[in-house]
Amino acid sequence: MFRREARDERREKLVILSEGEGSSKVPVLCVKDVSVAFGFDKNGLSRDGKQPLQVTDRVSFDIFPGEFFALVGESGCGKSVTAMSILRLLPWPSAKIVSGEILFKVGDSSEVGDDNANVRDSRDVHGDVDDGNGSTRNLATLSLEELQSVRGSEIACIFQEPMQALNPVVTIKKQLLEVFKFAAVSKGVVPKSAHPPKAQSPNALSKQESALSRNAQNDPLDLIREQLRLAGFTDPDRVLNSYPHELSGGMLQRVCIVMALLPKPKLIIADEPTTALDVTVQAQVLAVLKDMAEKTGTAVLLITHNMGIVSQYAHRVAVMYAGRIVEEGPVREVINNPMHPYTQGLLAAIPESHSDLRTLASIPGSVPHPKDFAQGCRFADRCSKCAQASADVREKCLSAELPPKIADAEHFAYCFFKQME
Ligand code: SF4
Repeated sequence: MFRREARDERREKLVILSEGEGSSKVPVLCVKDVSVAFGFDKNGLSRDGKQPLQVTDRVSFDIFPGEFFALVGESGCGKSVTAMSILRLLPWPSAKIVSGEILFKVGDSSEVGDDNANVRDSRDVHGDVDDGNGSTRNLATLSLEELQSVRGSEIACIFQEPMQALNPVVTIKKQLLEVFKFAAVSKGVVPKSAHPPKAQSPNALSKQESALSRNAQNDPLDLIREQLRLAGFTDPDRVLNSYPHELSGGMLQRVCIVMALLPKPKLIIADEPTTALDVTVQAQVLAVLKDMAEKTGTAVLLITHNMGIVSQYAHRVAVMYAGRIVEEGPVREVINNPMHPYTQGLLAAIPESHSDLRTLASIPGSVPHPKDFAQGCRFADRCSKCAQASADVREKCLSAELPPKIADAEHFAYCFFKQME
């Protein structure tokens, strides 16, 4: 009963979050069976004749407009590789998407995905689709030039270290104005020719800015000030006139959130955005990100290893282990009723302040290196359930190509767990 209520509540929430974005049933991004391997040369062939190392295996998930979707797991599980593969920011030429599709609707409409029977029927040679109402692009096969029109303007990124994302010798004002101009050009508000040349006098720059302002029918600085206020800055002008080193880590990350949202992207990829911040600032930054994303209907893919953050901010979560998604579902259901032993271990390892235990719970062992991925369930050598299982079930755990899917509506996991109960 409780689970059904939780599901209804989530559906209700998604409908509210996606108001003005079309149907909440239609994902903004569909990652389908994506596998990434390392060890290629610049011709796309395996390096030194060695077999490429596959680090993620048939990863699939959908993200809906306005949704906060978390990808969680220990370091080395493949979360960041999966996130970076969406915009093809993987190290070149070593890493390559060897199979799967990353479907994203480019253009005004935010609708993409599973209702696209016609999408599959009208694919061109790159697997892209034009359904006559904007186009669904397979980001895995787009040319780099085409990908440039998606990066930043349609899908933006927030990284772990805000100091490295900002130019230390340029004021925040200039950096935000640059993003505003980039957004205006890439969304076609102003022609490319209005983009300022690299070297020019301050007067020339201000002329460009006012031209852009007229074209956009808004003073860009007013818009930026408004966004900074939404991000919790009471004195936006002080922030605008600062250099990055004059602001704290939390302030810089909030500036990065404003920067990511200025082009009004449909999706933000936030890769461990608060790991470098202290705990009180973490909460503030995540609250700003969630609040601003909800207001704009932007979806967020949050990469984190912190289940506490997931429980507080995400709508749905996918748990990754050794390059595979092992469990996925609405956050409340995954936390209250984890199906996979790995998820159970992660949740048991969250320290409780009122507990008088002197030893923290942990999962024995560590995530295997991709070259040591074994046949069968990759969690088997750390799994307490497997250790206690009958020889018959243990044999299945160790030899099955992929454990079977066990599902309860939107909540599912890959495990032989049910057969042991
Ligand atoms: S499939 Fe077997 S080894 Fe893997 S998590 Fe489930 S019980 Fe453990």
